[in-house]
Amino acid sequence: MNRPAHWALSPLDLQAHLLLAEGCHPKGVLKARCGHLLPLRARRFREVSARKCTDCHLMSLSEAILALRRENPIRKDVSR
Ligand SMILES: [Zn+2]
Repeated sequence: MNRPAHWALSPLDLQAHLLLAEGCHPKGVLKARCGHLLPLRARRFREVSARKCTDCHLMSLSEAILALRRENPIRKDVSR
């Protein structure tokens, strides 16, 4: 599964937030992973040039690391 991250620029704090998956948003708003709420009209994008919210940024980094680990599992050296 290769689902690109969706970021949205909040008009409230002018930072980019990482959005929850589709279907996980409360009615009428967009919700970010950090809990920040954004209006539905917030501009969404995949590549972020705006300043990122620190919490969302850290979550996106840790998810990227976990995804890499899944793709390239650390080989365990089994010494007899
Ligand atoms: Zn955020």
